[in-house]
Amino acid sequence: MFDALPQDLRALQMRVRAFVEEELIPHEVFAEMNGGNLPPGQAERVRARVEALGLRAMNIPSELGGGGLSYLAQAVVSAEIGRVTNGLGWCVTTPARGIAEAASEFQRATWTVPTARGERVECYAITEEGAGSDVDAIRTTARADGGHYVIDGEKWHVTSFNHADHMIVQAKIAGGPNEGAHALFFVDVETPGVEVVRVPAYSHTYAHHHPIVALRNVRVPEANRIGAEGEGLTFTQDWFRYERLMIAARCCGAAERLIEEASAFAQSRIVFASPLAEYQAVRFMLADSLTELWAAKLMVHRLAEAHDAGEDVKVLHGQCAMAKLYASEMANRVADRAVQIFGGRGYMRENVAERFFRELRIDRIWEGASEIQRDIIAAQLLKRGAARLTG
Ligand SMILES: Cc1cc2nc3c(=O)[nH]c(=O)nc-3n(C[C@H](O)[C@H](O)[C@H](O)COP(=O)(O)OP(=O)(O)OC[C@H]3O[C@@H](n4cnc5c(N)ncnc54)[C@H](O)[C@@H]3O)c2cc1C
Repeated sequence: MFDALPQDLRALQMRVRAFVEEELIPHEVFAEMNGGNLPPGQAERVRARVEALGLRAMNIPSELGGGGLSYLAQAVVSAEIGRVTNGLGWCVTTPARGIAEAASEFQRATWTVPTARGERVECYAITEEGAGSDVDAIRTTARADGGHYVIDGEKWHVTSFNHADHMIVQAKIAGGPNEGAHALFFVDVETPGVEVVRVPAYSHTYAHHHPIVALRNVRVPEANRIGAEGEGLTFTQDWFRYERLMIAARCCGAAERLIEEASAFAQSRIVFASPLAEYQAVRFMLADSLTELWAAKLMVHRLAEAHDAGEDVKVLHGQCAMAKLYASEMANRVADRAVQIFGGRGYMRENVAERFFRELRIDRIWEGASEIQRDIIAAQLLKRGAARLTG
């Protein structure tokens, strides 16, 4: 459990905490006021520290160019970077591991190994105007054409497109024996026909944008297809499962920081001649927050250990849905209470609770909204029984 982290992971946690406190947290307000960007020169310092800490592509096996951390180590790191607002924690990269492992030699040399080494940047384009929760409703097509595919469609919310040099695009095969099957493709952003339609503004202030991107008659060689025709959904589900666990870990870090900051404020803020922390209404908010955080932490750590132990992936699928659902909703409750405890200060953008209150909302939506997680959990329960899912 948390107190029993192996010594090496406890040491890693402390090193990452120091990095976060020295290099990221002091720049949150600057980022909030400057489109999510760091002050001049700071991005280079951050990159160097990430490199020195071995956190670049921390989820990718070392033989594929990454940091090769265990799931438990990744959960520990993710909780630490989850303490930071404005997406500054995204300096720790986690490219799609299943794709890196399935990639051909050509694809490894061209995209996945350079991405793991930090020389290239990927983004993952699945969602469309008419297909979010229901991934199977995508209408982007890939039609085979003389050793190439021609891809047509429009992708929404393509996170980090403004930093990326290639996309992983999910499409349905048009024509041929696998008509309608899902497939993934590497598409360089410079390929003719890849066009930004528009860059909407979102609730958070991140340097990573989420544009709508059109692919109009985009021709890519057959060698850009990842795995076989029909394997697209499998890679995406693998990515979702991993991300759900790491979202849960990051939510734990965010909640922990919020509880610490709100507790400190409640002890120093005098109202009606007493510290806020002496009022039962405030104490109960802090107590509920801490209790829920502990429950979420236990879920995350148990689940990370289960991944490291190679437990049944079908059960892990249901458990990742539970961890993501619980931790994201927990963190949103904690942020709401923290804003309340800070009072008017909690509504100021310079306040950590205000920023997290906006930023954590997306964790109940992306990588499967809460309703979708509940649906997965119920389906798993009815299929496997409660004991199998809760150990
Ligand atoms: C900031 C941001 C970044 C993103 N980044 C990416 C990215 O990089 N790549 C990418 O491909 N996508 C990305 N997404 C898309 C994201 O994964 C989707 O928004 C999400 O999966 C939900 O899909 P949707 O928005 O189409 O909602 P919809 O599917 O339209 O659902 C709307 C609401 O209805 C609920 N709902 C849906 N079905 C049911 C049901 N059966 N029963 C009950 N309720 C239901 C949902 O839970 C949701 O609350 C991003 C989104 C955002 C906002």
